[in-house]
Amino acid sequence: MAKRIAILGSTGSIGKNALRVIDSLGAGYEVVALSAHSNVELLAEQVRRYRPRFAAITNTNFVEQFRGLVSDLDVEVLAGPDGLTEIAQLEEVDIVLTAVVGAAGLPAVLSAAQAGKTLAIANKEPLVIAGELLMQTIKASGGAILPVDSEHSAIFQAMQAGSREEVSKIILTSSGGPFRKMSPEDIENVTLEQALSHPVWDMGPKITVDSATMMNKALEVIEAHWLFDVAVDKIEILIHPESIVHSLVEFVDGSLIALLGKPDMCLPIQYALTYPARVAGIAEHLQLERIGKLTFERPNRETFRALSLGFEVARTGGTAAVVFNAANEAAVGEFLAGRIKFVRIVELIEHCLNKHNVKRHVSLEELLEADGWARREVEQRAQKHKCTRAHKSVTGIII
Ligand code: NDP
Ligand code: MG
Repeated sequence: MAKRIAILGSTGSIGKNALRVIDSLGAGYEVVALSAHSNVELLAEQVRRYRPRFAAITNTNFVEQFRGLVSDLDVEVLAGPDGLTEIAQLEEVDIVLTAVVGAAGLPAVLSAAQAGKTLAIANKEPLVIAGELLMQTIKASGGAILPVDSEHSAIFQAMQAGSREEVSKIILTSSGGPFRKMSPEDIENVTLEQALSHPVWDMGPKITVDSATMMNKALEVIEAHWLFDVAVDKIEILIHPESIVHSLVEFVDGSLIALLGKPDMCLPIQYALTYPARVAGIAEHLQLERIGKLTFERPNRETFRALSLGFEVARTGGTAAVVFNAANEAAVGEFLAGRIKFVRIVELIEHCLNKHNVKRHVSLEELLEADGWARREVEQRAQKHKCTRAHKSVTGIII
């Protein structure tokens, strides 16, 4: 029987790669549902090509336009965030690939977990803010969670070499992003264009900026903590500019198990879809002699203050992670819109963390409350200390 797949966020970087992977896998994988936020043209094209039975548009302003584009097709159109949670729990779906960006994906991720689906999870923010709840929900429903994030896919695969008790350390690798070699002074005046020029990975704008601040790695520490039930103090970060070793697990006997491969998201996406099987796919095979050497170094914690904040937040737990993530999402939004300088992103996150009173063992409502508070706080402060130098926003409009 074919594996029936829903892709939440099919118009994004991960979503498009997932469709390429499904194309290459051929029969045996059926696209049942797709979603976009506002890119109606691309979603309509995808619906025309993959003929899913369901399509969701989360931004309700675009629903009518989308309906018009697919009116000749036999597809049920669902609208708004509720449409997304609906496709996440469809009876007709086995695997929910979550490729939405940000905390906006949380309700759908939770509803897929409640429905006992297999979650192929790329959307890391819900794990960061509600990891405990999500993992408990999956356990209770009998669902499964398979990481798509390349480092976590590597760890998941390396973990199979021993038992959880035998793990002594997890090493998350990072390319270091575009500002790897910069000092705190150098980083003061970097531009949006520089922040969006990732040396290795081609990804959506939010995660690309997160890689430049290294917030991405900080979020990944919390993601790994929940996914693998590993203490925060057993997680380390190493800079590995070649991005060939996607992460490592050290076992108590000193053995280090690593996963190596070309930096190509198709590989972890495919593994999550075909798991536990491995099949020939579209990812180019690695020829180590062409790489020559692999290098590793410790990150510069002075330039990348997000890293120390991330570990502190991971140790603190509770609503600290919610504020950490929400402040980042809001600040990255301000930066992409050209309203604040790059260095302000982490400053704003730090400000929110300092001002927030952490609560533990919170309900979903309290979690969302903390999320909303941090976003408002960032917007107000960004407004107050608006960047005086005009620079281009991500859409190219000079502000
Ligand atoms: P993109 O920005 O490229 O795509 C985001 C997708 O989410 C699009 O389909 C977009 O729709 C949709 N979307 C945007 N806002 C909302 C919303 N409010 N509600 C519902 N859907 C929304 O992101 P990426 O593909 O780069 O990243 C997706 C997730 O995967 C992130 O959590 C990221 O951290 C993670 N990830 C990504 C990697 C990568 O290589 N890109 C690697 C590892 C993890 P529309 O196109 O209509 O705007
Ligand atoms: Mg990653």
